[in-house]
Amino acid sequence: MLKKYTFKSDNPGYHVLFLGAVHGNEPSGPKAISMAVQKFASGALTPLKGTVSFIPVCNPLAFEKNVRQIDENLNRIIRKYEHPATYEQQLADELVDHIAAADVIIDLHSTYCPAAEPFIFSDYPDALADKLAAAQNLKYIVEGWPQIYAGSQTIQDLSTGACAHQYGKTCLTVECGHHFAESSIQTAYYVIMNTLLTLNMLEGQPSAPVSQRHIVMDSMFIKDKDGRLARDFKHLDEVKAGEILAFYDDGTTVVCPSDSYVLLPKKEAPVKSEWFYLGHLKAQSAG
Ligand SMILES: [Zn+2]
Repeated sequence: MLKKYTFKSDNPGYHVLFLGAVHGNEPSGPKAISMAVQKFASGALTPLKGTVSFIPVCNPLAFEKNVRQIDENLNRIIRKYEHPATYEQQLADELVDHIAAADVIIDLHSTYCPAAEPFIFSDYPDALADKLAAAQNLKYIVEGWPQIYAGSQTIQDLSTGACAHQYGKTCLTVECGHHFAESSIQTAYYVIMNTLLTLNMLEGQPSAPVSQRHIVMDSMFIKDKDGRLARDFKHLDEVKAGEILAFYDDGTTVVCPSDSYVLLPKKEAPVKSEWFYLGHLKAQSAG
């Protein structure tokens, strides 16, 4: 049984659920959630309407061992299981019910990349997701993940976001920065507070909006054979058309097809796995 904290107002409103440590080695979500839970539990904060729930640790055993997962990646297998065959399938089966019981799900993650700038994955944007993403103090919003996987025979989108979408719920996944940076905890905490303030579930104003860039994922590059990235790419690095992005040991190269952003580069990716993605800046609608 996952530990869940729920704080309910007598007034009707959204049910917002915050998730931490879907990956066990990502402590900033659980830390920020614990800070928020303490405020609600002590009465320092009270929801003005609706319900706010927190599951600080969605993968308890992996969290205890400070590893990403026990048997498999929980954020790729979120669905109901009649007969769970792995530890994560048990968790997924339980998480589906929590997601289905909420209206808005905010899934807090962090990354191994030390220079990681926080960003939002908005996989299934709707009006509410757009509003909540716009209210965050974060510069980058990445869209288009499900479309990347739509054509894949081997990888199905069974993330928290996909599960939420399937049940008609709104979900944002927030990458809060490096796993162990103090700033990642702050980012996660601000995301919790800005979300609740934007939904008028707490008294006060969310922080002033920042200028944001929406990046749409275009393509996934699988590392076909032994090789290396052309340089030490960071997530959201800008690259130009014609630039060599990677060298294979057999002398062939991967060339950038158009001006793009490099997304989620994995320097040490094993052969036949995801190496990096490319995305482009989405045209912003005026006003
Ligand atoms: Zn994660």
